[in-house]
Amino acid sequence: MGQKVRTAAVILAAGSGKRMGSDTKKQYMLIHEKPVIYYALKTFQESFLDEIVLVVSPGDIAYCKSEIVERYGFYKVKCIVEGGKERYHSVALGLEQISDCDYVFIHDGARPMVTEEILSRALAEVQIYKSCVVGMPVKDTIKIADEKGNIAYTPDRKRVWMIQTPQVFAFQLIREAYRKLILEEQQLKEEGISITDDAMVVETLAGHTVRLVYGSYENIKITTPEDLSVAEKFMEDKGEGG
Ligand code: C5P
Repeated sequence: MGQKVRTAAVILAAGSGKRMGSDTKKQYMLIHEKPVIYYALKTFQESFLDEIVLVVSPGDIAYCKSEIVERYGFYKVKCIVEGGKERYHSVALGLEQISDCDYVFIHDGARPMVTEEILSRALAEVQIYKSCVVGMPVKDTIKIADEKGNIAYTPDRKRVWMIQTPQVFAFQLIREAYRKLILEEQQLKEEGISITDDAMVVETLAGHTVRLVYGSYENIKITTPEDLSVAEKFMEDKGEGG
């Protein structure tokens, strides 16, 4: 038997959720009487993951500690830290809280439908490829627009994926890539590169190939109010959350 693989998670909940159009941040809105962030934390807590770093907005630490982490007994949450302006700042700050492990799972707290099956699938792949992201092949045809709003081209649908989280990496690889990103942030901005996920960081700053892993069509991100109803329905169908 080999040594146990050590895994950590950075769960992100430091977004402002402007597209929700509500005073309550989307990660704290309720689905079946529990805050959105509860569901991802529960899945990670009950999985093989060893420790969790929870990244929240400035001013939300005390609330998250008492109303979420302590209230629901999420003892794997090792620390709660403040995030930054952009998602990648929040990830970088979260990663600095991990002292050592083999693999890191970076997950949007706004994706409550993640399952242990998805986590296991990603763990199997990251052990082979060092870096993998969860996603699904698109169902619709995707068009790439030009600056004027006309279609520039149509990529082959068989090779287009929509990307979800978790995104999972060997710890040293992702930590070094994020440290480099923070050092080179200004230069990347000047080159017009905007970083929207962790795979991009590893591709752009570490030059590492990233493996695609099947997530699920239910693993949606709560962004706008209708997403809350969709997640609620998915949970009812699975007999959860009610
Ligand atoms: O904004 P978006 O929906 O892409 O955010 C994805 C995830 O990243 C959410 O869980 C959000 O809370 C988190 N985030 C963050 N820090 C930011 C922006 C987003 O932790 N500055």
